[in-house]
Amino acid sequence: MFKSVVVFIGPPGVGKGTQASLLADSFSIPKFATGDLLREALKNKTPLGVEAKNYMDSGKLVPDQLVLNLIKGKISALDKETGFILDGFPRTLSQAQGLDEILLTLCHNVSLAIEFSMDEEERIARLTGRRLCPNCQRTYHILFAPPKKDSLCDYCSVQLVQRADDNEEVIRKRSAVYWETTEPLLNYYRQKNILKVVDASSSIENVFSRIKHIFQELN
Ligand code: AMP
Repeated sequence: MFKSVVVFIGPPGVGKGTQASLLADSFSIPKFATGDLLREALKNKTPLGVEAKNYMDSGKLVPDQLVLNLIKGKISALDKETGFILDGFPRTLSQAQGLDEILLTLCHNVSLAIEFSMDEEERIARLTGRRLCPNCQRTYHILFAPPKKDSLCDYCSVQLVQRADDNEEVIRKRSAVYWETTEPLLNYYRQKNILKVVDASSSIENVFSRIKHIFQELN
C-alpha cells in the first residue's frame, strides 16, 4: 500500500497536473490539486469559490488559510494509512508549515517533494496550448497531448475548454508570483532532505518513468 505523502511543486505549465493524474491512476492513490478544487468551488459558486474568484482571475494566490482549510477537509476524510499526492499545494512556506501541522495530527508527514523544472519560454508556449476537461479536470495540449477525438475529453466526451487564466498576461503574472513565493518553500524541503528535482521538459512518458522510479524507491 502506498503510504507516503508527496507534494508536487512547479510553476504553471510544467505538467504537474498531468503527472499527478498518471501517478494517482497508476498507484491507485488519491491526489488533490488545489487549483482543481478551487475551480470546482468557483463553478459551484460556494462561499470559498466566491472568495477565491478575484485572486484566481488576476493570477494571485488565494489566501493561505483558505487553501489550508480546503486541504484539511480533504485529507482528514482519508483513511489514516493512505498516502496521497498534493498537486500545486503547498505554494508558500506558511502553507508548508500549516500542512505539517495538519499531518502531525494525522500521524503523517511529507516524505517527498518533487520540483518540476523547465525553461521559461517553453513553459509559456505549453500553457497557451493547454486545454482542460471541465468535467474530470484532465488536461490536454493542442500540439503535444491532443485528445483522441477533436476537442473532446477522451474519458468524458465533454468539449474541452481553455482556462480563463491561461492567457499570456495572467500566465506571466502567475509565473512571477510563483518565483516570489517558492524559493523559501524549496529551501524548507531541501533542508529536510526530501526535495528531488525533475527535468520536466522531456516527453510525458519520460518524465512519468523518472517519477515512477523515484516513487518506487520511496515505498
Ligand atoms: P493552478 O491550477 O494550480 O494553476 O491554480 C490556479 C489558481 O488557483 C492559482 O493561480 C491561484 O490563484 C489558485 N491556487 C491554486 N493553488 C493554490 C495554493 N496552493 N495557494 C494559493 N492559491 C492557489
